[in-house]
Amino acid sequence: MSQPVLVVGSLGLDTLKTPFGEAADVLGGTTSYFSLAASMYTRVRVVAVVGSDFPPEYRTVLESRDVDLRGLQVMEGRTFRWSGQYRFDMNVAETLDTQLNVFADFHPALPEDYRQSEFVFLANIHPALQLEVLEQVQKPKLVVMDSMNFWIEGARDQLTDVMRRADIVLLNDGEVRQYAGTPNLISGSRQILDLGPRAVVVKKGEHGALLLSQEDGVFVAPAYPQEDVRDPTGAGDSFAGGFIGYLASRDDTAPDSIRRAIIHGSAIASFTVEDFSVRRLERLTTDEVLERYTAFRNLTRFVDEVP
Ligand code: AMP
Repeated sequence: MSQPVLVVGSLGLDTLKTPFGEAADVLGGTTSYFSLAASMYTRVRVVAVVGSDFPPEYRTVLESRDVDLRGLQVMEGRTFRWSGQYRFDMNVAETLDTQLNVFADFHPALPEDYRQSEFVFLANIHPALQLEVLEQVQKPKLVVMDSMNFWIEGARDQLTDVMRRADIVLLNDGEVRQYAGTPNLISGSRQILDLGPRAVVVKKGEHGALLLSQEDGVFVAPAYPQEDVRDPTGAGDSFAGGFIGYLASRDDTAPDSIRRAIIHGSAIASFTVEDFSVRRLERLTTDEVLERYTAFRNLTRFVDEVP
């Protein structure tokens, strides 16, 4: 019953600075956070590229969680690198440097069995690569896509094509405002919904997540009241990993499952931010996730007055 998830995205080395510390050349990229999060629920198939300088121990981090790396190409050259910092408002990442390196010449070639994947995550990467993956997947049941300001500015038309072909568009609040050119999140999300996806999920960092859906209207989820935020990098991709990983593990995309998936995504993301890079995900257990999932129920439960 459980289905594997296919992910295409960046895999590389991050250099990070937050009010709580710094880390250089640590394991990063959208794919690494997504894979470790989704592997709590189901098997993950990776499509990405690294350079010949990618440290073997980072590969082992993914392999030790049974992440399928047959779709990972190793090219002569340097691995993708991103450097970012967070100031006092840790909801906003400030990019200091992006080096696409081997991603600039990359074209995904999916192994034969990857093409039958039914659950697909187009993580934040050049939308042209997201489209190349979509061309190779035969009959997906659920395509979820993510992006960021870099591509909204630099590849808007291709990004719009991906949104048209996706079932669920996953963006953060700043990205929705930037793409739609409006400060209002609801009308911005509605503009994206009008392109054709079944739903838009807006990640709002420490303020939770918002769902706007063709079939299910509006749903709001709180964020876990996390006091221990050291490094918010990867929260969005971990959210995506919990979200799609859960749906794929149930082989179900019905509206009630999508609501539960948002809570799973929120629960996993709340762990990621507790430590730098993927360190917290590496030691995360299923029991911890379930405990936090349950804690979400109490966050918005209230008892009505008896009339
Ligand atoms: P997030 O979950 O949004 O915090 O994503 C964090 C990850 O995005 C980092 O580990 C970066 O390596 C990766 N990243 C940053 N910029 C880009 C980009 N332009 N394309 C692909 N991945 C990126």
